[in-house]
Amino acid sequence: MTRINKYIAHAGIASRRKAEELILDGRVSVNGDTMKELGYQVASGDIVEVNGIAIYNEEPVYYLLNKPRGYISSVSDEKGRKTVMELLPNVKERIYPVGRLDWDTSGLLILTNDGDFTNLMTHPKHQIDKVYVAKVEGMANKENLRPLTLGMTIEGKKVSPARYEIIKTDREKNHSIVALTIHEGQNHQVKNMFAKVGLPVQKLNRVQYGTLALEGLPAGQFRRLNKKEISQLV
Ligand code: URA
Repeated sequence: MTRINKYIAHAGIASRRKAEELILDGRVSVNGDTMKELGYQVASGDIVEVNGIAIYNEEPVYYLLNKPRGYISSVSDEKGRKTVMELLPNVKERIYPVGRLDWDTSGLLILTNDGDFTNLMTHPKHQIDKVYVAKVEGMANKENLRPLTLGMTIEGKKVSPARYEIIKTDREKNHSIVALTIHEGQNHQVKNMFAKVGLPVQKLNRVQYGTLALEGLPAGQFRRLNKKEISQLV
């Protein structure tokens, strides 16, 4: 028996709180009847539907993928482009990515079927560090990177101060490698932050998410995360 909001969250449909809203909005049914009882305990054999579509509860699972460039971070793509799901072909649970990496960004991506976990990981109030290594055009230095450490407004939204480390600068090729630690996950945030200080991103790789690092996982490969790794994250 599982409380109905938890059951919906575990199916990856919504967080527990959002699931309660769905229930109160009359969008959830059990065995064909609209269910408005927030405390309802789902029994085995119950058919739970959200917006008329049956959902299935599965054990929560968590995967770490080293995403190569050239894949979309979503479950399907209406334009038929390759998605990260193709890189996890034998996973039977209905997983989806936690947050997004751009098509041309590589690196660390978590996939799960646990809606509560996704909500915790992506909520800005949790301020989880995300570390990106960017190859940028131009010579990075203390002066031009300073605005990144002060907090900026990106596409009308404030982002908190970031930390950076200059890994390498190459005057001849006119590019630099910079590691940037941010907390939010706005669309194209890192590219927009560097663009704003006049250092356009040429390549971007996420190397860390909270306590998780890629640690030798080759591009295109994935592995299951264990309970300890999950509990350290949230
Ligand atoms: N910031 C970006 O600009 N792109 C990503 O893929 C992730 C963070």
